[in-house]
Amino acid sequence: MTGELSALVTHLGRERRAIAGTIVLVTVSLVTLGALAVLPAYALGRAVVLGQAPPGWFWAALTGLVLLRAVLTWGEMDASHGLAYRVLARLRMALFDRYAVALPSRERENVGHAASTAMADTERLEFFYAHTVAQLVAAAVNLLLGLCVLALVSLPMAAVAVAAAGALAVTVRLHATRTQALGHEVADRTSALSARVVDALGGLREVLGYRLQERVRAEIRVVGARAAEASGRLETTARMLAALREAVVTVAAGAVLALALVGDIRAALVPAVVVLALVTIAPAAEAAETLAQLHRLRSSAGRVGAELARPPATRPVESPDLLRLPEGPLGLALQDVSFTYATTRVLEGFHLTVQPGEHVGIAGPSGAGKSTIVALAGRLWDPDAGLVGLLGADQALVPLGSVSDDELRRAIAVVEQDGRLFSGTVADNLLGSGASTRADLVAGLEQLGVAEAVGADDELGEAGVRLSGGQAARLRLLRAVLARPRVLVVDEPTADLDAETADRVHALLAALPCTVVVVSHREQTLAGADRVVRLGPGTARTTPP
Ligand code: ADP
Repeated sequence: MTGELSALVTHLGRERRAIAGTIVLVTVSLVTLGALAVLPAYALGRAVVLGQAPPGWFWAALTGLVLLRAVLTWGEMDASHGLAYRVLARLRMALFDRYAVALPSRERENVGHAASTAMADTERLEFFYAHTVAQLVAAAVNLLLGLCVLALVSLPMAAVAVAAAGALAVTVRLHATRTQALGHEVADRTSALSARVVDALGGLREVLGYRLQERVRAEIRVVGARAAEASGRLETTARMLAALREAVVTVAAGAVLALALVGDIRAALVPAVVVLALVTIAPAAEAAETLAQLHRLRSSAGRVGAELARPPATRPVESPDLLRLPEGPLGLALQDVSFTYATTRVLEGFHLTVQPGEHVGIAGPSGAGKSTIVALAGRLWDPDAGLVGLLGADQALVPLGSVSDDELRRAIAVVEQDGRLFSGTVADNLLGSGASTRADLVAGLEQLGVAEAVGADDELGEAGVRLSGGQAARLRLLRAVLARPRVLVVDEPTADLDAETADRVHALLAALPCTVVVVSHREQTLAGADRVVRLGPGTARTTPP
């Protein structure tokens, strides 16, 4: 088994008992099926060769086996799918947990596509968890049992079955080598196709507005044709190898029949012996097919594995190093901070101290690093060097990386310029922290002048699509205010607002009892601050206070 697939087995750790149960069910079910085939063949041989009707026990045994097989098939489906769904549910949660610590990465990549591919890959892995482990073990046990019985009847026949099993193993190996590169190619091309379609649909207004339909169509046609061509090659190879497997089973059955006819086996037993050989080898052929299918899952397994291994965006807080935040008002400090995106150095030796309760404005030209300061203050990322921390009234600095995530999120709220609202009502979106009441929400909507347009129970639509830019900006700010943080950091809260509405925001911010850091281009918005820090163009540097 390859690395990608063996990594999947690790997720089965908590399911040992369930796996043992399904192995027993599937194995007994397979052996029952074999007996169900051999028994009538035995009765047929007796009837045709000896002219004898089946003995009385035959019907009872046959009925018993049919009932047993029906119950086992049902139980097996139930157990296998139950097991698979439990593992998949854990895998989805593990992916979500990983994204929660790994994002937002400082590249601000669009992870929507990666996440939806990983979720689709996870669904594909259902096959692995539901139809692999128990089925392969059952086929192996069935093969061994069948070989033992065949060997008792005739050693050459057992040798034929062993040779057939060997040939089937060769087809699996062939499948792996022939389709490995092809499987990755199909996955990559299919994923490129879906990325192109999602991209075009996401920008449908631009596509229509700038008459880009033909270009998008042509691109999708080319990418689609490439994906279809690679899938076609993969499918042809898979079918040829499946045909090869069928040929192995047929040749083996023919060889057993020939041996039975020339050997010293009683004529009445010949049908039963041939069927015995078939039920010994056929499940092995099915197992070979399953193994072949598994190779198709390698890229899915690889992608899920890679997503689960995404590095965390910020250094995890170790519990022995955890610090408690001091009581009372909190300030914010960036000390000697340096920060670089891929190649752009934005901050170098940067210092900023905001005293507890102080309201500070940050101004500067576009690209000066203002939004980066906001992100660092909210510990969306760690600085490359230096310290970002919360400042107690006694001027003691508690680094953000030493506070539990829970405590940090309660203490500080960050409102990014491109922050998200979610589908659900205004109340669902804004009262999530539990720090404020519905009455506070209604008062806030009134104060910011949005109450006429949206009420607490209005649905916002996916990502808040039903709101104008200015309404969304005010709701994002209100969400942070209603969380009652001790430090509020806001990026361009008035950029989307007319002067009159901006004044409502100024009034709200001025009345806040907490520490406020507000980034803005608007002098009016900065005017409400106790002082304004002005960044110059290029890499922001400041000398220590
Ligand atoms: P401001 O908010 O002052 O306009 P930002 O903090 O957004 O500035 O950006 C500072 C600089 O960092 C800009 O030159 C910008 O191009 C660059 N930058 C911002 N975000 C990223 C990113 N995710 N990846 C690479 N460079 C970035």
